Formats: sequence, structure tokens, C-alpha cells
Amino acid sequence: MLFCKQDKIYFSLDRCCQCGVCLASCPVGAISRTWDDDGLFCIHVDAERCVKCQKCVQNCPATTLPSIILKEEDWSAISQVYIGHALDEVVRYRASSGGIARTLIRNALVKGFCQLAYTMTDADSYPWAMGGYISQESCNAQVSNSKYLPVPVCENLRQLSPGNLLVVGTPCQLLAMEAFYRSTKVRLIKICILCKQQKTFNFSRFMAKRLGVTDYKSVPIQYRGDGWPGKIAIGTKKMCWEEAAALPYSKRLWSVPGCFFCTHPLGSNADLTLADPWKIMNTKQSGMTMILIRTEAGEKLLDLSCKEIALQSIDSDRAKLSVDWQGIQAKQKRTKYYLSKSLGGGTRLKFKVGDFQRASYEWLLLSLKLPELALKVLNRMPYWG
Ligand SMILES: Cc1cc2nc3c(=O)[nH]c(=O)nc-3n(C[C@H](O)[C@H](O)[C@H](O)COP(=O)(O)OP(=O)(O)OC[C@H]3O[C@@H](n4cnc5c(N)ncnc54)[C@H](O)[C@@H]3O)c2cc1C
Ligand code: SF4
Ligand code: SF4
Ligand code: SF4
Repeated sequence: MLFCKQDKIYFSLDRCCQCGVCLASCPVGAISRTWDDDGLFCIHVDAERCVKCQKCVQNCPATTLPSIILKEEDWSAISQVYIGHALDEVVRYRASSGGIARTLIRNALVKGFCQLAYTMTDADSYPWAMGGYISQESCNAQVSNSKYLPVPVCENLRQLSPGNLLVVGTPCQLLAMEAFYRSTKVRLIKICILCKQQKTFNFSRFMAKRLGVTDYKSVPIQYRGDGWPGKIAIGTKKMCWEEAAALPYSKRLWSVPGCFFCTHPLGSNADLTLADPWKIMNTKQSGMTMILIRTEAGEKLLDLSCKEIALQSIDSDRAKLSVDWQGIQAKQKRTKYYLSKSLGGGTRLKFKVGDFQRASYEWLLLSLKLPELALKVLNRMPYWG
């Protein structure tokens, strides 16, 4: 998070959600980044160059994230819920879920709904992805699968001439993009990638250890794709996502610091949101994406791709189960705790114990070589906070 104190700009990693928009916002190039050992990038402000315009502070989503509280009405604002997949089986097989995001992007460009799209695409060096614009001519660029490590997606944003711009990103990135184009004539059409947490590089480090890969910083990492629910591939070694998910990496381990303050995984400002239909489909099926429509522009996006995707309308309660609505509400309470808001003594203690459990797991899993059975036992332990 960036803030201004006594006429100077400061960066705090504790609240940073790693969106990268500050790097794109500075008119004088006073902001740079360096990677730390956990795979988080730290922001540096050159005080000599800084002209104190505060654009970086105004665009930083970490300031607004905790105040966007998810309410019951936010669910009622969703007009339609579908599960669907790309009809092209190669696209579907390679995608994170059902290949809906990449199909919507391609058709929106080809059919002229927008002139450009801004999304994450694959890159050939760490962190193996970057944010960039694609056009009708370059719409076959390799759109990334879900990346579970920090990527400064918004760092390549630039000002554009008036028109529709399709943007794809997690809720914090969409907030950042909205702030970046505020007061311009660029109209954003927003596809949200549902996101409850992003991982630091330690998650990949742990997986590399399980797979016996030692040069994990220099080989490409792919987290999903290769069918449903996909495989994690580090260099040439692979593990089925089902097996990976049975190891105790969930439980909010190795979370990007800013994610503890994020309360709206569905993207409050999105035209449509894409998610995995966890809990409502089994792992024997091929990939599917859950699609939550919120606006007319969202409907139009889907309509433009109707000949290239298979869709099935689903009941809103099933969708609520899949996104784990209850879990989202519980996260809001925890956010209050991290913001040091008033909470009962019992609740506060519960979250403190949860933090202790998380820190112990993180240490144990990276420091010791535990047998598979011990990992499975740890994974079955209830989460205390
Ligand atoms: C960090 C993260 C956490 C997620 N958590 C959940 C969850 O808890 N529950 C759930 O139901 N779904 C979650 N998802 C969404 C899910 O994994 C799929 O991305 C979604 O279902 C779309 O699948 P698709 O096959 O249609 O997308 P594809 O056609 O494969 O396209 C994927 C799109 O996502 C973009 N993308 C990938 N990774 C990132 C990233 N790190 N930041 C910004 N954009 C990215 C790509 O640029 C691309 O446009 C998460 C995704 C991410 C990236
Ligand atoms: S205040 Fe303005 S000039 Fe200074 S770092 Fe931020 S964006 Fe750059
Ligand atoms: S949240 Fe985004 S804008 Fe704010 S400091 Fe972190 S990378 Fe920069
Ligand atoms: S949980 Fe929130 S802050 Fe973290 S990456 Fe996802 S959208 Fe951004």
C-alpha cells in the first residue's frame, strides 16, 4: 500500500495486494520494484524524482479494498448464473477451468465490441506472466491460465484514446484499472476472475520440494490447465491438482499480505465474474467455468461468444455453495480483526490462534521434509481461526 505522510510517499508491504498499478501511474518514472525472497515485489519511490502528485496513492487499491464489504444485496445483483465451457476441446483442455475467459476475450475483439483487451499473458521469464494489451490481430496470444504467484499485472497499463477496453483481472486489479482510467474517455468492460487469495512464491517452493525440483526459480511453472482440475507443472515434473490440493497448502498458507484485507472476491465492479464450479461438479468431468452475470455489458459479452461456448443455466443457491458464500462472510470478520476493529475477546483470541497455526504450518512445511502421511494428517486438521 502507498500513502503520503509529511509530503513524502511511503510503501507498506503489509497491505500491498501486488497489483502493480503504482508502477504504471507515476508520470515521472519515480517508482521501481524489486523482488524479495518470498516472491513478493517491493515498491521503491525515488524521493528526488517524485513530484508529489499522489497519482500512485490515489490509484492504489489497497486503500479502498477493506471498505468494500460484500453484502447480501451483492448476490441479488447477479442477474444470471451459468456453468459453461469452450466448444473447442483444445481451448477447454488447456484452460484453467472451461476456457470461458479466453473465448470471451477473442470474440469481443474479433466482433469489434472493444478495440483492445488488457489481460495476463504468458512470459518467458519469472514470474512467467505479465499484463498486456491484445488486439484483434494478436488475439491468439497465449492468455495465461490461473497464476498462483504475484504478478504485477497492472504495471503495463497506459493511457489510451476513447473507446471500449475489455479488462480481465482479480478484484483488486479491476479496482486498480478502474482508478487508472478514471476521468478518461476509456470505457471499461470488466471480467472478474474470482479470487479469495493469492499465494507468495513459497507455495510454489513447497510444491517444487514435493516434486523434487531444485532449480524451481529458473523453470516455468504452470498451475492449472491440462484438463480438469488440471495439473501443476514445475519444469518437466507434474502433479495432479487433486493431489496437490490434498496437501496442506490451503488454510490460507503463504498468502499475499494484502489478501488479508480483501473482502470482495467476486469483484464489486465487474460486468461478469468467472469462477471454478468447485463443489458442484466432480473431478471426472472436463473443465467448466461458472459465470456470474451482473450487467447488460456482461450479457452482451456472453452473447458474442454464444456460438463458441456451451452454456447451462444453474440455480443461484448452487452457485452460492460453489463460491462458499459462508466462507466469504467469515473472511470479512477476519478482515476486521486485521484492521484492529472492535471485536469480542473470544473472537479475537480465535483469530490469534489461527494466525499461530498458519505461521507454524508455514514453517513446518518449508523447513522439514515431512512424509506424505504427515502432510495428509495436517491437511485434515481443522482450521482454528
Ligand atoms: C489467484 C486466483 C485465485 C482464484 N481463486 C478462486 C477461488 O477461490 N474459487 C473459484 O471458484 N475460482 C477461483 N479462481 C478462478 C479460476 O481459477 C479460473 O480463473 C476461472 O474459473 C476462469 O477460468 P477459465 O478457464 O474460464 O479461464 P481461462 O480461459 O483459462 O483464462 C484465465 C484468465 O484469467 C487470467 N488470470 C490468470 N491468473 C491471473 C492472475 N493471477 N491475475 C489476473 N488474471 C489472471 C488470465 O489472464 C486469463 O484472462 C482463481 C483464479 C486466480 C488467478
Ligand atoms: S507522488 Fe506522483 S511523482 Fe511521486 S511517486 Fe507517486 S506518482 Fe510518482
Ligand atoms: S497495492 Fe498495488 S498500487 Fe498499491 S503499493 Fe501494492 S502494487 Fe502498488
Ligand atoms: S484476494 Fe483480493 S487482494 Fe488478494 S489477489 Fe485476490 S483480489 Fe487481490
